[in-house]
Amino acid sequence: MHKESEQSQPDVEIMCRVNQLLDAIDSNNCNDDYNKLRKLSAAYLIKHCNHSIVRDYIDTDVDGGGQTIYYCEKCMHTLPISVYN
Ligand SMILES: [Zn+2]
Repeated sequence: MHKESEQSQPDVEIMCRVNQLLDAIDSNNCNDDYNKLRKLSAAYLIKHCNHSIVRDYIDTDVDGGGQTIYYCEKCMHTLPISVYN
């Protein structure tokens, strides 16, 4: 059976690494061109990644609580959780 989630996406893998590298610097310390690239790489992942969403639980250490998050295990894009705010 053909499983779409196991398809190789070398462009997405590269862009994921690029995005993680760009994210290593705080956006306040970067110029506009840098931050533009950061946004572009993130947008590329959101658009072209064949997302494989998984659920995770994160301890926040606030009142012993935690938070459930959803993210793509391929591009590491975290889905916005409105519950948190
Ligand atoms: Zn993805």
